[in-house]
Amino acid sequence: MILENLNFKSNYLSLDNEFYEFTKPTPLDEPYLLSFNLKVAKLIELDEKSVDDPRFIQFLNGTFIPKNVQPFSMCYAGHQFGHYAQRLGDGRAINYGSINGWHLQTKGSGETAFSRTADGRAALPSTIREYLMSEAMHHLGIPSTRALGMIGSQTKLLRNGIEKGAVVMRMSKSWVRFGTFQYFTYFKEYEKLKALAEYVIEESYPHLKNDEDRYFKLFSEVVERTATLVASWQGVGFCHGVMNTDNMSIAGLTLDYGPFSMLDDFDFGFVCNSTDKAGRYAYGEQPNISYWNLTKLAQAFAPMVDKKRMDKKLEDYGAFIYPNAYIEIMRKKLGLEVKEESDAELITELVGALQDAYVDHTNFFRILSRYDGERMPLFEIAMNPISIENWLNLYDKRLMKESLTLEARQTKMLKTNPKYVLKNYMFQDAIALAKGGNFSRIEELLYLAQHPFEELEGFEHFAVETPEHYKNVTLSCSS
Ligand code: AMP
Ligand code: MG
Repeated sequence: MILENLNFKSNYLSLDNEFYEFTKPTPLDEPYLLSFNLKVAKLIELDEKSVDDPRFIQFLNGTFIPKNVQPFSMCYAGHQFGHYAQRLGDGRAINYGSINGWHLQTKGSGETAFSRTADGRAALPSTIREYLMSEAMHHLGIPSTRALGMIGSQTKLLRNGIEKGAVVMRMSKSWVRFGTFQYFTYFKEYEKLKALAEYVIEESYPHLKNDEDRYFKLFSEVVERTATLVASWQGVGFCHGVMNTDNMSIAGLTLDYGPFSMLDDFDFGFVCNSTDKAGRYAYGEQPNISYWNLTKLAQAFAPMVDKKRMDKKLEDYGAFIYPNAYIEIMRKKLGLEVKEESDAELITELVGALQDAYVDHTNFFRILSRYDGERMPLFEIAMNPISIENWLNLYDKRLMKESLTLEARQTKMLKTNPKYVLKNYMFQDAIALAKGGNFSRIEELLYLAQHPFEELEGFEHFAVETPEHYKNVTLSCSS
């Protein structure tokens, strides 16, 4: 379908007008196409030739608005680094409505009613990072928002120095956040709170639609999806960086890519957000923080659901819902099919061993996927192989309880432990090249993002240990 014929729907606009503000995009100067994501275009049946259609750039820049579209920004609140902000909202995002259940939204299209003191813009570096990383997460099997394309421009922005403005067109099955619920509870607007719950059920939990106990079940399922999401972040070594409640998706998606990072060397204490001086959102803290965020969601649900039932669910989250989700993911990473009581201990020992080993997280699991009793390949990638040796003694014993053949286990593990993840230094290089007008690295990284488990000829240099001076790069919220 060509752009002009896309048929947008906007169910969100049937909610009370307090949920959103109509917004006009402010175009960027001299926009140009940075990238077009064919795989995502297919989801909305957008013709692949749109990549050559000048209208596509105009569409992202807000100078071409398809028929039936009334652009709007959504209202929400949220706890930012533990402190409640009663009105945040889409300060730089503008929604266009949905196609095939995918809600399209630009990020960086200028001031909205929720911009507060900021400029409503997104800089080129963070735009390239979000575009590529959301695609990588999806192909790693982790629920995420997606991105259709991005444009750059000559509009100057003041960040840490001068940057150029860009826009990414994001797509998601839901843009509702924990903070959207918090907003209406805080202002005691309980009818609107219920309307929001009904909307979310319709959009993301339709099987609950006619259930009498649907608000409690909605809460429960959000708890469960959050467990799966955060456990999969831990498994792959993804650090979100800003797990504020306004960045927590009610549908269990990875949402709002700011100063995120994949782990280089495994480090439980790694903090990717340079603004986060206390390490609130350190890699190893993410499960605890997800619990804290869910307690805030429970407060927001309290006008609709018995608090005691939610408290029990939260207790279960810490006691077994999250731990089980994590153990499940780690079993897969380790190629274990049989469920043993002692697996939790094996995994705890592994985390301790990795922490002591100074070893690249991604490479460790990829090389372990080919493990046949020969330990040298694993020792060679660690600064401290002794901790790995001790753990392999436990692993060898544990493998004896498995019935899968060596080949079958290796095949499964190679489909679980990626060869390629997008590390911060790769983005830095792609961004530097893009600033000089060369977008080829963006396309290369997009290809890597879409094939994380494959052995790609000519791409091996993206699968090596992060160069020492590039390790543990941190980024700020405004980058
Ligand atoms: P974040 O944690 O980056 O998702 O953003 C937190 C809040 O700040 C959200 O309400 C954003 O819309 C808003 N925000 C972030 N950057 C900007 C910006 N440059 N202009 C306007 N609002 C922004
Ligand atoms: Mg946000």
